[in-house]
Parts: sequence; structure tokens; C-alpha cells
Amino acid sequence: MEYVIDFVYVGDGDAIIVWARNPNIADYVFFIDGGNAGNGQKIVNHYQTNIKPHLLQSKAIGFINSHPHNDHINGLIEIVELLGSEMSFAIYNDPVEFISTELREQIKKSYLAKEDDDISHLYESFEKVQKLNELCTQHNLKRSSALTDSNILNNDIKILSPTREFYQEKVQQFTNIEFLKQKDFSQKPPTIFDDEVTSPCTIVDEINDASPENLTSTVLQLTDSSGKKYILTADAGVESFDDMDNNGFNNENINLVQLPHHGSRRNVSSAWLVRFNPKMYIASAAGNVKHPRRAVVNCIKRNLPNTSTYSTHTSKGTLSYTTKREVFPNRGWRSATPL
Ligand SMILES: [Zn+2]
Repeated sequence: MEYVIDFVYVGDGDAIIVWARNPNIADYVFFIDGGNAGNGQKIVNHYQTNIKPHLLQSKAIGFINSHPHNDHINGLIEIVELLGSEMSFAIYNDPVEFISTELREQIKKSYLAKEDDDISHLYESFEKVQKLNELCTQHNLKRSSALTDSNILNNDIKILSPTREFYQEKVQQFTNIEFLKQKDFSQKPPTIFDDEVTSPCTIVDEINDASPENLTSTVLQLTDSSGKKYILTADAGVESFDDMDNNGFNNENINLVQLPHHGSRRNVSSAWLVRFNPKMYIASAAGNVKHPRRAVVNCIKRNLPNTSTYSTHTSKGTLSYTTKREVFPNRGWRSATPL
């Protein structure tokens, strides 16, 4: 399989289109998340201009939702509303299927009583996934879960995390009402350190308090015909990568890795940055103080002098990577500038 991977700029959010091609035989298009509310039409325009006219007769179009946070699922819902009739499959997890009806009702009650912001946020995410479920029924999409035991295109596209056990464990955590009342997962203003340039890796390694919901993000690995690998991380974090490791992750021959959580310092460690050791890192980010984090970019520069880091915010257009140019039409794109 060969791929075009398009990272469309949507600020702090993910909107990635993977166009997979089995040369001369079939095309597969995966809409992976769609950014925030209001971003959907832009992604659909990109698809209709740059991908759809070139598709082979034999094709399948569908979507993957990494996790139900606003900056990933809201724009995706719009995409499925616009293109659902052209789609045939959907890959995502519905956390509600992993909890009891009683617990769901308790969460709803707490949401209606406005007891806690994190609980409201959780219940809203349940509603978003419910919306996807309805769209799947409406358009008759074949739904499968996004767990390591799923199989996509004979494992040319592989889900590296979450395993079923890890997903179950994290769902128990982020649907625990007492846990949510104690914690505060709202966005906090960033602390800027003087040493983001002098000792960036210390800052990267300082805290890894990624939210359990982010940690359930789908981590995808694409493998091309020459065995090179491309890893899309959404908002996963160090615990998700450790989960991959427990499931036999092999770090050889990695060409591209998406920096998790828009380049935040809280979702990586210097050890994992070095372990991935890709030719390039890509952040899907707004270009603010947190995303991508200067310490993360500098920590990569410090440890991996041959790795280039890119961010969608630099051009505010689309960052695109093609695994084998002769297999796809020339879309006339220029080279991107690394950070
Ligand atoms: Zn995100």
C-alpha cells in the first residue's frame, strides 16, 4: 500500500486525510478526525479538489475518530454529515458501550445538575459519539472498534493503541464520578520556563498528566510497500506508548510521527521522542505557546539532529506527505519549511 497523508490546518485540532492506494487496483480514503466545529467544510473542499477527482474506480471511503474531544470529533461530524452518503465504513470507540446503563444515567444526572465541569465535558462527548452512531445508521456505514485487535487493510494500517484492556481501564477512570470531581482537566494557562532553550528535555520530562480520555486516543501505524512506517498519534501520551510497548511495538524504520496532542509537552517524554527516531515529526497545531511547545521542538533538535519537525501552523495550509510519488498524481505542491 502507498499513501498520501494530508494534515489540514485547523488550529489546535486534528484533521488528517489518509489516501491509501493499492496501485492500479483500489483506493481507500480515511478521514481521521475533522478539527473543531466549523472546520468540516474546509476538509471536504480539500478532499473534493485534491483527492476525489483522482480516485480509481474501485474505492472505499470512511472515517476514523481518535477520541471524542471537540477539536477532533466536531469537525468530523460535519464531514460525515456532508459526505456520509459516499462513505461505507467507520472506525471508532464508543465509551458508553464500556460502562453500565446505571453509570451513564448517573453521569447524565450530574451533567443536568451542572455538578462538575469535567463531568459535563464527558457527557457532552457521549452525545457527540451518539451523533456519530446515528450518522452510521443513517448512511448504513459498517462500524468497527478502534482497538489493537481490529484489522484495517490487512494490517497495512494497524492500531497500535489502545489495547482492549488499556481502553477498558481508562474508561473506568474517566467515567468515575468521584475521580472527575477531584480532578480538574480544564485547560490551564501555560507556565513558560526560561530554560526551554537551554534544557528543553527536562521540561518535556517534568510532568505527564495527560487526561485519561486523551490517553485512549487511537494511535495508527501505516506501513508502505518498502516497509517504512508512519505513526499518527492524535492526543495519545506516554502511557499509550507504553501500552504499545506491552503489545510488541517495533520502533524500526519509522519515517514520520505526528507529535501527540498538538505538540504539547505533557504527552511525550524525551525517551519516547528518541525511541521513535523518525525522519520527521509533524504537529497539528495553532502555533501558540503550548502547541507546539518550544521545549518539545528543542528537545528533538537536541537529541535527533537528523530529524526535521514541521507544524501545520507555519503555512496555515496543508502539510502533505506522499510515500511513493509515481503512484499518485502530481498535485504540484512545494516543500515545507521545518521549525
Ligand atoms: Zn486534540
